[in-house]
Amino acid sequence: MSSRFAFQRGLVWLRNDLRIQDNTALYHAARSCAQVAAIFIACPQTWRSHDEGDPVVSFRLACLRELQQSLAERHIPLYFLELQKFAQVPRAMVQIAQKLKIDALFANAEYPLNERRRDSDVREALKKIDVPIEYCTDRTLLPPGAVKTGSGDAYKVFTPFKHTFIEQCGGTDFAPLPQPRTMEEDDNWPSWIEVRGEHNLVQTIPAQLPGYHAVPEKKGELLGWKPGEKAAAKRLREFREDIDGYEDERDYPAIDATSRLSPYLNCGAISIRQCAHMALTLNNGQWAGGSDGISCWLSELIWREFYTHLLVAFPQLSKHKPFKPETDKVPWSYDQDKFRHWCDGKTGVPIVDAAMRQLNQTGWMHNRLRMVVASFLSKNLLIDWRWGERYFMQHLLDADFAANNGGWQWAASTGTDAAPYFRVFNPYSQSKKFDRHGEFIRDFVPELRELGDDEIHCPPPSQNYPPPICDVGQSRKHAIEVFAALK
Ligand SMILES: Cc1cc2nc3c(=O)[nH]c(=O)nc-3n(C[C@H](O)[C@H](O)[C@H](O)COP(=O)(O)OP(=O)(O)OC[C@H]3O[C@@H](n4cnc5c(N)ncnc54)[C@H](O)[C@@H]3O)c2cc1C
Repeated sequence: MSSRFAFQRGLVWLRNDLRIQDNTALYHAARSCAQVAAIFIACPQTWRSHDEGDPVVSFRLACLRELQQSLAERHIPLYFLELQKFAQVPRAMVQIAQKLKIDALFANAEYPLNERRRDSDVREALKKIDVPIEYCTDRTLLPPGAVKTGSGDAYKVFTPFKHTFIEQCGGTDFAPLPQPRTMEEDDNWPSWIEVRGEHNLVQTIPAQLPGYHAVPEKKGELLGWKPGEKAAAKRLREFREDIDGYEDERDYPAIDATSRLSPYLNCGAISIRQCAHMALTLNNGQWAGGSDGISCWLSELIWREFYTHLLVAFPQLSKHKPFKPETDKVPWSYDQDKFRHWCDGKTGVPIVDAAMRQLNQTGWMHNRLRMVVASFLSKNLLIDWRWGERYFMQHLLDADFAANNGGWQWAASTGTDAAPYFRVFNPYSQSKKFDRHGEFIRDFVPELRELGDDEIHCPPPSQNYPPPICDVGQSRKHAIEVFAALK
């Protein structure tokens, strides 16, 4: 064994960290092992039970294919294994470690409850064969649990969390880690091995998985998004040019003013450190102050951090429980018909319909509209927010349990730091304020294209567009009464 390295053969277990640049687990593996291979394990049955849909899974596989090439250039083989469930992973990992003669395993930590249980089971299983595993902090800037109140508890409210978070960052600039070195060529990595008698560890990434339909690629894009680390880096460079205008323009869905990095952050084609480093460098190291656009964007990155930290501090969130238990007494509606109208963008409320069609057609929705449609479903229709949360998970390219659950519970007034129950978004005033000339509505609701700016937000009855499925004023009043009665 070369004395430079602590281990001869290391394995990096890739999950939602699909990049070479600034990948903590990969970096540590390359520093401490003479030879490194990578593995990705797909568990379609578990993913389905977590409501991960075709868009997010197709995007993940496409990013993985690009990553395989970049890894191969550094002589790091990428193995792919398809199991059904997380529960099968520990035993499979033991066999893999034995057959590939692995001395150490490296992975970046994941935070939803089932992922944490899986990872701790893998640790236990590998302990029995003396293979150490290192789980690294990579998905967040600070490890969940690190940002505490004076009395040592987790924060439940964003603003104090943000202050302590910034304090705790202590001026670090989150400079990305160096790239992993190129390994010496090693013919000892087999091209495939058998695992558990029925599954093969191979070096080809499938186009689709059982129970999933591959979203077709058009001109190298999925739903208009180019997968992979290079596309993510390009997007970050482009956004860097516009970031100063972020605060002023981020709420207007017809303007391309937000970073649109969420699908890449979600599958890890770009790291949160790369994003924070870019913004902090431009803002002379300041989280708050300096450029309004930059500090506003940095604050959004802290929202992402906040929701992930909450997930670890409050395990009930991973079990689809409301953060405020009393809100489970809300007499939620389970009206399939109305829900379908909402999903399909046929509620008769143009801004809601345009937003839902944006989601269905592009796998992404503007943040302002996520709040509007979530409020409409959970307050005006009083439909259980978990139905909406689930639909988003199934259709978003950036489907992230922590951010999605946090966003839904915020809008439904069931979460920590949620919108007060009496603040119900009025979709018509939101529409007039943030899509004043109806440009966004016209893009996604072609049947309203000919209407003028004054009519498009609340169109007159017509044959080709449905009337609203609810009276926005009355339903708002009803929702407020229902929530007030919980007190
Ligand atoms: C009901 C609801 C559901 C949501 N579901 C998701 C989800 O599944 N996945 C997801 O990544 N975001 C989710 N968000 C948060 C937010 O809408 C998206 O992160 C944002 O629209 C992504 O676009 P962007 O990359 O252009 O964001 P930017 O405005 O450029 O922000 C930069 C990054 O900061 C993070 N971020 C921004 N706003 C938030 C926020 N409110 N909460 C947490 N992180 C944030 C994201 O990683 C985002 O990519 C949800 C919000 C709501 C209200």
